[in-house]
Amino acid sequence: MHTLRASKYGLSIKKLPPSITEVIDGLTKAGYDAYIVGGGVRDLMLGLNPKDFDAVTNATPAQIKEVFGRRCRIIGRRFELAHVFIGRELIEVATFRAPPKKVVTSAAGMILRDNNWGTIEQDFVRRDFSINTMYYQPRKGIILDFCHAIDDVKTKILRLLGEPARRFEEDPVRMLRTLRFAAKLNFKIADDILEIFTPKMTRLLRDVSPHRLYDESQKLFTMGRLKEVLPLMIEFDIWQQLFADISPNITPFIDLAAKNTDQRIQVGKTINPAFFYAVLLWENFLQRYEFYIKKGLVAAEARAQAGLDVLKRQSTRTVIPRFAETFIREVWEMQTRLLNPKPQQIPALAAHPRFRAGFDFLLLREKVGDPDTQGMGQWWETYQNLSSDEKERAISKYNRQRLKDRRKPEKVVDVEIEPLVQEPEPKPRRKRVERERPTQQTDVADNHPILKRKRVKRDLSQVIFGPTQ
Ligand code: ATP
Ligand code: MG
Repeated sequence: MHTLRASKYGLSIKKLPPSITEVIDGLTKAGYDAYIVGGGVRDLMLGLNPKDFDAVTNATPAQIKEVFGRRCRIIGRRFELAHVFIGRELIEVATFRAPPKKVVTSAAGMILRDNNWGTIEQDFVRRDFSINTMYYQPRKGIILDFCHAIDDVKTKILRLLGEPARRFEEDPVRMLRTLRFAAKLNFKIADDILEIFTPKMTRLLRDVSPHRLYDESQKLFTMGRLKEVLPLMIEFDIWQQLFADISPNITPFIDLAAKNTDQRIQVGKTINPAFFYAVLLWENFLQRYEFYIKKGLVAAEARAQAGLDVLKRQSTRTVIPRFAETFIREVWEMQTRLLNPKPQQIPALAAHPRFRAGFDFLLLREKVGDPDTQGMGQWWETYQNLSSDEKERAISKYNRQRLKDRRKPEKVVDVEIEPLVQEPEPKPRRKRVERERPTQQTDVADNHPILKRKRVKRDLSQVIFGPTQ
């Protein structure tokens, strides 16, 4: 083990957010060892802006809870962790782990239960890449390096601890992490990893929960390096595992959307990872739509059914949460509405919560030469920047053109727009058997407020998706 002087590598307590130092100090004062470990230390060393800071300690989750009280919540089953809330920030605090006493693995060797506490040395060997195993104690100004990780930082090489094949079998998600870090940090993947990183190996990802894979796919989409990571995903057969039905081919549309997403992240704008799913699945959606049209469905039904089908297929690999699915279907549905808007509805469409995403999507299609957009991307772009008088004139002009093209009068006078998508019907609940309540025993009066409580309906249209960690 080597002890490095943190200041020599550009790390100092002054560069840390107060939340992480508060956690480290809190644990230290209570008599425990505590370090910052993982991406935070790695990124600071590389001169990057860490996404977050993870802490690690010899205190057990229960002891961490004793230190931070109500500010701490214990989470996870396979991997128990403490979440400590400092102000508005959340710090993840893990306990040093030893190899599991009783190994609980799946048939393919995947570790299913992993909560055996241990020493820092034991904790170190269980981590994934050498560059993720540096333990930083900011008060002491030292970094503990157990495996010459610093050399890998300097030579920019991604090296797994231990035998790569076994490490991938234990947790196939490490394959995705390999590509993520290679793309994010611009590191070379070590030769011994390349040797075993085969399509056969990637098939182990089928055993990983589709929920976890969705989270990982989000991390891949939101690190600002989609342009770099997408070709790697195809090269290493990861694409084929995550997106079973999407042909492994970076179309100009996907390429432009990737570039656009990366740029937004680089300038600190929010992005919605579901938007990128909408892009990836667009071709499949169109094909499925054609299929239903050929079967004789009317267009609106064909679109609705195609959307549901495509998302259902994808959810066998990565489970897209319901609100993200709705977002994707709305973006697709917006394409039709924006392409051929009823003139009276134009102002309402432009004010719709899903307008921005739908319009961005349309414009991307147009920019890569999709003839189906008929220049409407540009039309909406111009429209948004007009004064209200000019907007009215633009709508009249659009209406005249539309009438000329169609040669039939416009009858629609409804300025309201119908919902973009219909949520699938929830499963019918079994009717509850009414039990007779003995009236004497209840002291809740008939007009008690609790009996008037309504279910709160959340407005998910405003939800901004972000990285999960
Ligand atoms: P970033 O947060 O920038 O995406 P990170 O390296 O901090 O990268 P996290 O997922 O936050 O990644 O994990 C924190 C640390 O936990 C990692 O640096 C690594 O040491 C360890 N770790 C995370 N996931 C695994 C895994 N699947 N196998 C082994 N160690 C892991
Ligand atoms: Mg991290």
